[in-house]
Amino acid sequence: MSETPTIHALDDATVRRIAAGEVVERPASVVKELLENSLDADASRVTVAVEGGGIEGIRVRDDGVGMTADDLERAVEEHTTSKISSGDDLAAVGTLGFRGEALHTISAVSHMTIRSRPRDGGRGHELTVEGGDAGEVTPSGCPPGTVVEVTDLFYNTPAREKFLKTPATEFDHVNRVVTQYALANPDVATTLEHDGREVFATEGTGDLQSTVLAVYGREVASSMVEVDADDAAGPVTSISGLVSHPETTRAGREYLSTFVNGRYVTAGTLREAVLDAYGGQLAPDRYPFAVLFVEVPPDAVDVNVHPRKMEVRFDDESGVKSALTDAVRSALLDDGLVRSSAPRG
Ligand code: ADP
Ligand code: MG
Repeated sequence: MSETPTIHALDDATVRRIAAGEVVERPASVVKELLENSLDADASRVTVAVEGGGIEGIRVRDDGVGMTADDLERAVEEHTTSKISSGDDLAAVGTLGFRGEALHTISAVSHMTIRSRPRDGGRGHELTVEGGDAGEVTPSGCPPGTVVEVTDLFYNTPAREKFLKTPATEFDHVNRVVTQYALANPDVATTLEHDGREVFATEGTGDLQSTVLAVYGREVASSMVEVDADDAAGPVTSISGLVSHPETTRAGREYLSTFVNGRYVTAGTLREAVLDAYGGQLAPDRYPFAVLFVEVPPDAVDVNVHPRKMEVRFDDESGVKSALTDAVRSALLDDGLVRSSAPRG
């Protein structure tokens, strides 16, 4: 054994990289943060283009509000945000981001270039940050909105780099993230490109059915049944969306998407609620396609969990569950797709 260890403080750069690893796990986590920023910036068009599964490069372009030169400089600093100003605002966060750490954190473990021009006038500027070291803000002839480019992710965190999977697997994760946000925001024209090829592009017309068509294709889109329970009883304000015919299924549960107050969540309760509605009509280990928006009063749900997890906690877990089962079941019943027997389970 070595001698008794002595305790010492880590240097700032090391602390930063450890913290970064908590938020930025893989290319898909970068895509998630950049996409959320574009949506928070009121974009109507967002393009996500990745190379090599996102390991080589990630570019997210939007036509949102953009940033001034001063804001651009502040955006990459630690704990800087335009979204809340004090702890009091935390209770009523209306944006996807608010922690003010994403850009700072990503820029600490990559090479990042941001080009931005305010939508309501003013010139464009750009800023490059290399492993946390910000350069000078310089003029840039970019269109209104913002483009963030991230390359060489984890180049200075070899431990994290080692955990990256193949480009195909990393792209899979990226695809899932962009798909969920595209479905959650039918009014935003969302495009995903991989290695220069378009994977999907939604129109941004606000129509959920055509968004599903763009993302999942014709076979799935044509099997979708509309769910609409506007005055759902109990702890739920409304439930709307689309679910597939019991025979249009996949082996993976990732096509069963639930959104609570607009936020994508993976909640076992909600998934089970949907499966129960099919009442034993699904083949074993098969999952339907679903895009379901569950609206609940903000104080009946806790979404302020870990930034990387997409979990929620409901005050009335079983009430939400049965409301969702009822809503989906009555949509399927209306279409004659399930029998009116008791739900399984
Ligand atoms: P947060 O989203 O939690 O505020 P971020 O580090 O992700 O923290 O972003 C910091 C700030 O940079 C945001 O609050 C916003 O003002 C600005 N910003 C980031 N991305 C964009 C964008 N795409 N368009 C406009 N402003 C942006
Ligand atoms: Mg953010």
